[in-house]
Amino acid sequence: MSLSPVPVAAIEELKRALSPDRVLSEPGDLVVFEYDGTIERGVPQVVVFPDTVEEVSAAVRIAGKYGLPVVPRGAGTGLSGGAVAAVGGVLVVLTRMKRILEVDVQNMTALVEPGVVNLDLSKAVAKHGLYYAPDPSSQRACTIGGNVAENAGGPHCLAYGVTTNHVLGLELVLADGTVVWAGGGVRDLPGYDLTGLVVGSEGTLCIVTKALVRLMRIPESTRTLLAIFDSIEEATAAVSAVIGAGLVPAALEMIDREIIRAVEPALHVGYPLDAGAVLLIEVEGLRESTAEEAALARRICDELGAREVREATDAPDRERLWAGRKGAISAIGRISPNYYVLDGVVPRTKLPEVMAKVAGVGERHGFIIANVFHAGDGNLHPNILFDERRPGETHRVLEAGEEIMRICVDAGGSITGEHGVGLEKRDYMSWIFSETDVEAMQRLKSAFGAGESFNPCKAFPTSKGCGELQAKVIQSFGPDAYI
Ligand SMILES: Cc1cc2nc3c(=O)[nH]c(=O)nc-3n(C[C@H](O)[C@H](O)[C@H](O)COP(=O)(O)OP(=O)(O)OC[C@H]3O[C@@H](n4cnc5c(N)ncnc54)[C@H](O)[C@@H]3O)c2cc1C
Repeated sequence: MSLSPVPVAAIEELKRALSPDRVLSEPGDLVVFEYDGTIERGVPQVVVFPDTVEEVSAAVRIAGKYGLPVVPRGAGTGLSGGAVAAVGGVLVVLTRMKRILEVDVQNMTALVEPGVVNLDLSKAVAKHGLYYAPDPSSQRACTIGGNVAENAGGPHCLAYGVTTNHVLGLELVLADGTVVWAGGGVRDLPGYDLTGLVVGSEGTLCIVTKALVRLMRIPESTRTLLAIFDSIEEATAAVSAVIGAGLVPAALEMIDREIIRAVEPALHVGYPLDAGAVLLIEVEGLRESTAEEAALARRICDELGAREVREATDAPDRERLWAGRKGAISAIGRISPNYYVLDGVVPRTKLPEVMAKVAGVGERHGFIIANVFHAGDGNLHPNILFDERRPGETHRVLEAGEEIMRICVDAGGSITGEHGVGLEKRDYMSWIFSETDVEAMQRLKSAFGAGESFNPCKAFPTSKGCGELQAKVIQSFGPDAYI
């Protein structure tokens, strides 16, 4: 693993294996790929855009031959730095591989390439009365390959499970360029569940080049409630009460006052500007059951102090309410030049206590923290608002972020609910895993043939090699750089 210049011969080989216009190596072109969705950065030395599995395999082989790190990348919406080229190397961007290869309506499956955008799959199969259930809030942009790598969740994963529950099989390119399949069209295949292993492996084991995914029937009836509370404490108490009453809504999402301030002027979705927090509660299924479930959710919110509970009157009204939730993180850009999105998970019942502590961290460090999250799963996303142009502010944000992660772990939770460990949280791994656990994971990576150079510096605590190389990279970004 090195940050030495890429040999001209390597670039020439990549151009021959793909095509010259699908290999970038000019600094001005490379800098575009410096970030993913969070604040880590690292400029790749080469970016390639393969069109086929053969080209992915060739790119990986050529990188291996010249000892260059390989980093897979989808849409770059990741929120843990997983697709950032931490120590340079070849960034393999899968977004051109965006074909839906087969839709099997009877068996309710689809075979797709990794660059298919999540929402495009649901749109493409809607004419058959089907959809793809995992729906990250970034679903208009993020890819199925990135979803598989991060085991992505989303608002509707509360009832239907996260990505791993919807992937049946995967075509993979291993670190030496070999192409293999894991899993297949039927459930409960014998042998180790390698598909399950690859889902959530954060692009550290292999490159996903095809995914066979489950589709679901669009439900007969959907009802969406907006419960408006004066405080976040009341809203979080309602979350536990709804699920404690035996109701598992399709989605149960929380949006706090700061997010409402960002979203409402931009999107005009009808969230009251003076509310402390709102809950979006959606129930799906047969008409009779959704009527009962919506009534139960409404009663519980009323009893727990909701100021008002509104129900979407029709599909456009429902979409409007969801537009606020799905556009929340981007809307933060209106109220702050920078924001740091955190991702922790805690037992649902601990939400009121944890949210109070998170607010305390903001006050102590002098930062506004805006919250929008999958409350039903106990998966919180505090967004720390800051301005990286102020000297030292990025480092203080990181300190505040670390404190919040500690609060989640101390509450019996964990360091990530869905965004992954990536670059961002690798040093927190030791809070929840023993050295033996981490070694076992490293052995597993080696068993896949993915050495140090395959998506380096991700998911594992900083190794000496990574630390030294990153120090070199930081030199080039200046003292306020964070990678
Ligand atoms: C506004 C916003 C909202 C979000 N909401 C959610 C949410 O609700 N739920 C959620 O889970 N996440 C959410 N995310 C995070 C992000 O969108 C997901 O992690 C998503 O799965 C990343 O997909 P991507 O295509 O952008 O992947 P990238 O960011 O490009 O990559 C993510 C990781 O996957 C690896 N990877 C990418 N493609 C492949 C491949 N083909 N083979 C192997 N590895 C690969 C990369 O190396 C990297 O480690 C959100 C992000 C944003 C910006």
